[in-house]
Formats: sequence, structure tokens, C-alpha cells
Amino acid sequence: MKKIALSKLNELFAAIAKDTELHLPVNFKGETVFKKWTEGDNYAKDSLKTVKSPKDLFFPQNENISNFRKEGNKFIIDPVELPKSGIVVFGVRGCDEQSFRVLDNVFLAEPVDTFYEARRKNSVIITAACTKPSESCFCKTFGIDPTDPAGDVTTWIVDDNMFFAVKTEKGEAFLAKYADIFTEAEEDDTYRVENVKYLANQIFAKLPLADLTTEGWGGDKTDEKFDDPKWQDLSTACLGCGTCTFVCPTCQCYDIRDYNTGNQIQRSRCWDSCMYKDFTMCAHGTARPTQKERYRQRFMHKLVYYPANNDGMFSCVGCGRCVDKCPVQTNIVKVIKAFGGDKK
Ligand code: SF4
Ligand code: SF4
Repeated sequence: MKKIALSKLNELFAAIAKDTELHLPVNFKGETVFKKWTEGDNYAKDSLKTVKSPKDLFFPQNENISNFRKEGNKFIIDPVELPKSGIVVFGVRGCDEQSFRVLDNVFLAEPVDTFYEARRKNSVIITAACTKPSESCFCKTFGIDPTDPAGDVTTWIVDDNMFFAVKTEKGEAFLAKYADIFTEAEEDDTYRVENVKYLANQIFAKLPLADLTTEGWGGDKTDEKFDDPKWQDLSTACLGCGTCTFVCPTCQCYDIRDYNTGNQIQRSRCWDSCMYKDFTMCAHGTARPTQKERYRQRFMHKLVYYPANNDGMFSCVGCGRCVDKCPVQTNIVKVIKAFGGDKK
């Protein structure tokens, strides 16, 4: 394990930013957001959740994917250059780290999404262990260890130092590149990190959602759950605002639109939401005409359809953002509990 004094973090960030784009959580107008680091930015080390997850870095909210224009009788396609690869994302929490793997299963499966692949390829993910979770956190329900998250390198803060443990070859190469800035951790330090993990786990065990379980959910539950009358009650309050999908690190639906700029057509894709009534609108209308059907789709996808196609992996990571942000307090936790997924 390596370590660095917190006072030297900006030196590390400056060294990384010389080589590649570095993104990390910073405080901005009272919120915490992921931002490309530039000199003067301070890592928001004490904040837990960014408003939007870092999924934007690999799957931006809006992106131009192609341009075309007419020349005489011909259509000319002007391909858009693929985005840069190899960014470093620092300070990713365990839930958001797992969300990258959920997205990988979608965007890196055949046919590969070349834009996503270009951004994701060679990216280095440095995770931050959680020590002060919020009441809406329930990542452990999905098998995530927030006190020792995955990633290429994992970090812990103990007193005035940050500790770095390598998890992958990429992580090893990353630490080797900046070896001059780190010092080797001592045996005592290992105990101190273990103690921080132990104390954090005590807090996690007492969270209101500590007993939430996915029991009763999974890829084989379509027939059992689809026509359950509970969906009507659960969805009655839903406004169809789409907030839950926009803050969700694993939601991956998008729309494609063409804009006439006057001298060419610009084709863009932007995030969409299965909670909207015009989502996947076809000439004959929409496949899900009621909010109950749209609401059911969102949660059945997270807890049944996605696991059915991805070896049992759920596409919720328990970040709790939808719990915090839904204006009418209806969310995935209520759905899980309504079907009995609460051990209490
Ligand atoms: S569940 Fe809540 S956040 Fe999501 S669309 Fe409905 S009202 Fe909006
Ligand atoms: S469904 Fe809610 S808790 Fe689950 S990953 Fe999405 S925003 Fe987080």
C-alpha cells in the first residue's frame, strides 16, 4: 500500500493532469459534482454522493454522433471523431464503480457502442472508500463493499493521509507512473486502514436500509411480478418527471435526434427516460400508455429483466440518489419492500 499526505494531493492531481484528463468530485454552488480538474480545484473528499453520477464521463447526457449534408443529389456523411480515451476518474464511490460494470454489459456487448468504448478504454478508476454513509445508502444490498470498493486503485483517508491499494494491473501501472509522489505505507498504517473499515462497517450495519434484500427478485420473476396489482398503488404518486432516471448511474436509455443547422444535419443522442410518456413513441402510439406500465418497466428492468440477461447482476447499485431526489418519495426501495424484500 502507498500513501500520500492530504496536503500533497494537489501535487498528485497536477502530475496526472499533465498526462491526461483527470475528473474528480468538487464542491460547486453548494452541491458536489464531477469536474475536470484544473489548478485551484479542491477534491471534495468529505462529500459522499455527487448530484449526477460519473456515468456522464463515459455516456454524456448529450453528444453529437454524426453529421450529414446534401451535395447536389448526394448525401455526404461527415463522421464525428471518436472521443479521447484514457481519462482518470478519481474519488469514485463503490456504488458508482459498480455502475460502470452495469453500463459495460450494455454498451460493450455486440454491437459495441464505439463512443462509449472509446471513452471507457484505458480509463483508470480510483475509488474512495466510504466512512460516513447517508441514510439512503443501500449498496450492500447489491453485494458492494463500500468500505473496500473495487476499481483499479482504492483509497482510504486516515487522519492527514490518503492510502492507495492496487486492485488491477492498470492500477499498478498508474501508481508506478507517479511513484515519486508516494511513500510506502508502514505496517501500522495497514492496521489504521483496517480500523477505519471496521468502524465504517459498524455504521453501515445501523443504516435504515441495512436489512433491505433482493430476496424474491431476479431474472426468473417476470411471470410472478408482472401482473401484480401492487404496481397500481406503487405508481399512483409518480409524476413521470424522469428525475430518478437522470440521477441514476445505471440508467442507459437514450434518444437520437437530427437537427438541421442550416448547412448540415447534426445527429445527436441524449439521455431519455422510460418514465416519460413519449418514450419510444412509434407511429401507432406508445407501447406503455399508462404511468403504471412505465413505472413497472423501470423497476422490472432493474430487478428482473437486466439480471435475466446479465448472469443475475442487478442494475441498481443502491446509491440512493433516486431515494433522495424523487419529488414524491416513491422509489426502488418502496418497490423492493412492497414485494417483501425487507428482512425486518
Ligand atoms: S419515480 Fe419519482 S423521480 Fe421517478 S419519474 Fe416518478 S415522480 Fe419522478
Ligand atoms: S435505481 Fe436509484 S438507488 Fe438504484 S442505482 Fe438508480 S438511482 Fe441509485
